[in-house]
Amino acid sequence: MAVERTLAIIKPDAVGRGLTADIISRIHAAKFQIVAIKSLRLGKKQAEGFYAVHRERPFFGELTAFMSAGKAVVMVLEAENAIAKWRDTMGATDPAKAAHGTIRKELGESIQYNCTHGSDAAETAAAEISYFFSGAELA
Ligand code: GDP
Repeated sequence: MAVERTLAIIKPDAVGRGLTADIISRIHAAKFQIVAIKSLRLGKKQAEGFYAVHRERPFFGELTAFMSAGKAVVMVLEAENAIAKWRDTMGATDPAKAAHGTIRKELGESIQYNCTHGSDAAETAAAEISYFFSGAELA
């Protein structure tokens, strides 16, 4: 298995509910290395750019409003097989369908307010990491 990097976001719902430390503890327990981390509030346009792939979906407006409604914590995580491993750690998009022990199952409130984001493939991970971090921040 190759060492990979993936983009993780603690979304505004989770930050607002005071879950940042809990989620970072789970990241450490799962043996990811946090390569870079920052707290920021996405602008609406920045959220729309990040989720451009979902532009035609009925929930696009609601999703991008939610993602720009408060502070988020954006991270680059590194581990063997990090992309799939982080998605396993988060659980399925809908907390009601997520496996027991996952972040979304234990902490998520709904299919939208599901606490975390994770890249879904190597190409999207590279694009999403460069959306938020410069080369110097990733050294
Ligand atoms: P992910 O890769 O597991 O985050 O899932 P997607 O890429 O399919 O969706 C991106 C994000 O949009 C999800 O994490 C949710 O916050 C939100 N989302 C997905 N499906 C729905 C939906 O049916 N309704 C609403 N309101 N939000 C959704």
